[in-house]
Amino acid sequence: MAHEDCLFCKIVKGEVPAEIVREGERTLAFRDINPQAPTHVLIVPRDHHPDAAAAAAAGAGLLDEIVRDAHEVAVAEGVADTGYRLVFNTGSGAGQTVFHLHGHLLGGRGLNWPPG
Ligand code: IMP
Repeated sequence: MAHEDCLFCKIVKGEVPAEIVREGERTLAFRDINPQAPTHVLIVPRDHHPDAAAAAAAGAGLLDEIVRDAHEVAVAEGVADTGYRLVFNTGSGAGQTVFHLHGHLLGGRGLNWPPG
């Protein structure tokens, strides 16, 4: 189900343009508008779930699918061998600004730990 005012629901419906890199039956992957690494792709479920915990509670296996998709995109982008990071910001205190589940796939440069 889509949420009326949700930006990523609008991207899924094609109402807001995005540079799509992978289309799954239940997921979509598109480039982040403000990339933080040479590869910065967001992987989202087509259905609206506010965050990863909510999607996990729904029990539909979406997180598995997002992790698989992220790896496929990482391989296609040539960043799988050097390593990549998959991040689910959860809650505004952790930097979540769009409340439609999205995994950030970041790669193509060295990534520090711990993140800021
Ligand atoms: P969050 O801060 O973890 O919620 O991540 C939201 C991400 O969405 C940020 O990295 C933004 O740069 C990105 N973003 C915001 N608007 C758009 C858009 O229209 N297209 C693609 N990415 C977007």
